[in-house]
Amino acid sequence: MTLRTPALFPWLAGLLAIYLIAPLAAGVQQAGLADWNTVDTGALLHACVISVASATTATLIIAIGGIPLGYLLARIPGRAMGALGFLVQLPLALPPLASGILLLFLVGYGAPLGRLTAGALTDSFVGIVLAEVFVAAPFLIIAARSAFAAMDPVLEDVAATLGHRPLFVFFRVSLPIARSAIWSGLLLAWLRAFGEFGATVMVAYHPYSLPVYTYVAFGAQGLPAMLPVLAPTLALALAIMVLSTLAGAQVNGRRLSLPSTAALPNALAKMASRSSAMTGAVDLALRLEKQLGGFRLDVAWSPQAHRLAVLGPSGSGKSLTLKLIAGIERCDRGTIMVDGRDISALDPALRGIAYVPQNYGLFPHLTVIEQLHFPVDADPHAVRHWIDRLGLHGLEQRRPDALSLGQQQRVALARALVRPARLLLLDEPFSALDAPLRSRLRQEMRALQDELNAATIIVTHDPAEAALLADQLLLLDAGQVLQSGPTDQVFRRPANETAARLLGAESVATGVAAGTDSIAVGAGVLLRIAGPALESGARVGWTVPAARIRLSDAGPYQGSVESIIDVGTDRQITIRFGNAAINALVGAGELSCGSVCRFDIDPDAVRIWPLPAA
Ligand code: ADP
Ligand code: MG
Repeated sequence: MTLRTPALFPWLAGLLAIYLIAPLAAGVQQAGLADWNTVDTGALLHACVISVASATTATLIIAIGGIPLGYLLARIPGRAMGALGFLVQLPLALPPLASGILLLFLVGYGAPLGRLTAGALTDSFVGIVLAEVFVAAPFLIIAARSAFAAMDPVLEDVAATLGHRPLFVFFRVSLPIARSAIWSGLLLAWLRAFGEFGATVMVAYHPYSLPVYTYVAFGAQGLPAMLPVLAPTLALALAIMVLSTLAGAQVNGRRLSLPSTAALPNALAKMASRSSAMTGAVDLALRLEKQLGGFRLDVAWSPQAHRLAVLGPSGSGKSLTLKLIAGIERCDRGTIMVDGRDISALDPALRGIAYVPQNYGLFPHLTVIEQLHFPVDADPHAVRHWIDRLGLHGLEQRRPDALSLGQQQRVALARALVRPARLLLLDEPFSALDAPLRSRLRQEMRALQDELNAATIIVTHDPAEAALLADQLLLLDAGQVLQSGPTDQVFRRPANETAARLLGAESVATGVAAGTDSIAVGAGVLLRIAGPALESGARVGWTVPAARIRLSDAGPYQGSVESIIDVGTDRQITIRFGNAAINALVGAGELSCGSVCRFDIDPDAVRIWPLPAA
């Protein structure tokens, strides 16, 4: 690795580092001057015990309250939480003596709490702990808040859809991911508590903690008596730092083992019979209403199919629709009927819906095999089956950062499938992949859909993906349903031009129905179409995919070439055809701008939508 740093940095960094280490070196050099005879060993030892015990007690208290506080500050938006976050950091900004004075207003002899406890909160071990908690807690709260804020909340959402309750999700997902930052926060808090002097002398001068004892000894005996006092102080601080580093470096050692392969044929047979017995299609009736800031989602959709897709441009509410179905977001109003049962009031853990978010939501701290055993009711045989079926062999002990995007997708899919579910929701599962991989994984998904007992809902902005992977489509635009229905019908008869463009139309044109199966697209130019009959005289919009226009000398249509663009080995030409300019994809050949060409258009490929009467 080559290190590229500004030339000035080593000098600046070096000077400060030397200054920080120099006093330590000076102390060691003066060791010979130490006056060991004046040391009251008993008092010194007592002060050490008081300091270690109080710092440890304070750190425990800080951990118990500070980790949840940091978590809530990171998760709950709004001004009130912002203000709370600011206020609880205040002890960091205050001079410790001022903190001590403030504490005395609360727990001192004359204060309400002091009177109530008969002075037990001052000049006591409890008083030391109170002072230390006050000044040291912000170190942990800040560390915990930033660690939780940096964590992708989708991981907790996914864990909920895998059947887990919030407390389990916190201990198994959130806390392990934030662990190293929280560990550093706890170390800082302990060291701050251990070294605390200012607030402590105000609240609890007795019993002597190590810093207070140091101050007292310094006043009585001067500098030569300090070295014997400093030695245990330094040793204890160093010991805690070393212990904490060692504990922090220890990896989360638990490894899950695979079920024995002897059970495999049995398991596969079970999976196979499950597949053959399945009905597949789900009976859905969705009524979703949700306001998010300035965005409003309003969806009504009642499809009956095994393979469904939601298609819409970016920001149209596709992901939100999936989250509402999964239960990660709650509807303002609405019902979610799955096979006749309304699940809209159920917790995500109880909905029986598998969810694969965009970017897959794999837990960064778990290996592949741990991810697959994570869901509640994960069936070990199903785990083994999906490892085989999705080609995850050899990856079991890897963490997500050691997997390719394609492998991550398979792991996320396997994790969603190891517990029984009626619906599998996939949010843009192919959008992060490069073109060849995308194409291959789409084909694999197509095959997988036929094996699944669950119906799939795939969210996408790609019409080709929707066409391949769905029998029923929902088109969304700006939170509203543009159209829904069987895929082939929606493609043949888009509701309007917006829907047609969403479905991939590049060039659109207008015409007038000249009979039930043809439209006039210019003076005396008729285009034959297939599909549902048209009402003669109706104005329509129309489009045809470039790949469905075929140049042929025997073709029924004639037009002039307006432009030619090379696209690799093909050429995209624009043909003037009646009042329309249509794009066609053709191979190399004798074509030039302005030349006349003959061509054929498959009537089945013409897509038509109604236009308001002129
Ligand atoms: P899509 O998945 O179709 O790209 P999304 O469902 O993610 O769109 O988002 C739909 C709309 O909701 C977007 O316009 C987005 O800006 C808005 N939105 C999402 N989350 C919030 C939120 N927490 N507050 C306000 N608006 C939001
Ligand atoms: Mg989205």
